[in-house]
Amino acid sequence: MERLQKVLAQAGVASRRKCEEIITAGQVQVNGVVVTELGTKVNPHQDRIEVNGVPITSEEKVYIMLNKPIGVVSTASDPQGRKTVVDVVGADQRVYPVGRLDLDTSGLLLMTNDGELANGMMHPRHEIDKTYRAWVRGNVNSEAAKQLASGVELEDGPTAPAKVKIVQVGNGETQIEITIHEGRNRQVRRMCEAIGHPVKSLHRVQVAFLKLGRLRYGEMRSLTPAEVDRLY
Ligand code: URA
Repeated sequence: MERLQKVLAQAGVASRRKCEEIITAGQVQVNGVVVTELGTKVNPHQDRIEVNGVPITSEEKVYIMLNKPIGVVSTASDPQGRKTVVDVVGADQRVYPVGRLDLDTSGLLLMTNDGELANGMMHPRHEIDKTYRAWVRGNVNSEAAKQLASGVELEDGPTAPAKVKIVQVGNGETQIEITIHEGRNRQVRRMCEAIGHPVKSLHRVQVAFLKLGRLRYGEMRSLTPAEVDRLY
């Protein structure tokens, strides 16, 4: 739910200030009822909002799952001029990344123009699981995996318990699968480093129930309406 004046402003009706005036002047109807109170909460996806009887059209919502390649920054623009995930998705899509992956991390990144969903998903309260495949140095034994899973001490405090699976050990490196719900800066890398197994490469395979599946690096697909509903 969002404040009516914000929804009107985002739909391009007028500035936020001007939209407040339009509301108090009784020119706005929500589901057929005149609303004059500022701050009235509406659902821009479900409520019928009209200004002087004309329905507002909000920007069509776009939801994309991208397999972010290594070497691409997860911001909308980069002061250093490096390639961004927005460049990968294409200039005709006005979408922004939901959270971040490091420059040297690949994998599942959601991109959307739905600020409400993005903010909700990034809020720590929602504890959304994110699963990574990490190739780390050394042979990770069950003791080290247990340590990782029970939480490790980092300089910004202990980490919450994680789910850890050893996928493959050999040749002085181990592939692990780790699921965390926190989103601290370079968290998986710092956790693995803290138990003496620095990360060689890192790839995100799942966010909430969404799996990367067969998408190759740089490939993307739209979420289905059912997937979007489930994220809400
Ligand atoms: N943890 C990391 O260390 N890097 C990422 O990009 C994501 C999680």
